[in-house]
Amino acid sequence: MSENIIKKAIGHLELGDVKQAYSVAKEIQKNQLIDGKPKSPFAINLPDSQQINFIELILDAKPQLLSGLSKPDLIKIRLSTALWQLGFSESTINLPLVDFAGLSPLSNQRLRLLIFIHSRYLENLAQFKRIGIKRLELVSSGNCCQNCQSYDGQEIALEDALEAPNPDCLEIKDGVICGGLICKPVINFDD
Ligand SMILES: [Zn+2]
Repeated sequence: MSENIIKKAIGHLELGDVKQAYSVAKEIQKNQLIDGKPKSPFAINLPDSQQINFIELILDAKPQLLSGLSKPDLIKIRLSTALWQLGFSESTINLPLVDFAGLSPLSNQRLRLLIFIHSRYLENLAQFKRIGIKRLELVSSGNCCQNCQSYDGQEIALEDALEAPNPDCLEIKDGVICGGLICKPVINFDD
């Protein structure tokens, strides 16, 4: 794949011009220069406007669990996550990570995953808000850590939604994201 095209996409992302970065990525995919990989992580292919909005959230993400990263490193890993979301290959998504100190014990892939989960969650919350959901139920997965489990079954107002991933998750510190917490919308037909 032409290095110049990739540099162009990264340059657009660095300037926050997601729309342009997205059209470059789509152009590359159209020319089948991406080796048959799904367009985005977990093969979640979003409609154009949603994809652009999602990448904007990624470029702005500040999960508390990453508060140990320096500001330049946070910017680098956001860029890397955006490239991942745009469907670029492993070697390309690591390009922004020059002199990246990282955050032990989390691998760079875990860091990207964390930003991905955080941004996806913010997107979900915004959507709940748009459709008038007022309350959320916290549901922990079967094999999550004690802290995440302690929230299980609690109901909270949408505006009091916790951050995701849970900043107090005990297992994330060992380099693993536990099953974690999910916010389920509470649908009350009396509202
Ligand atoms: Zn946890």
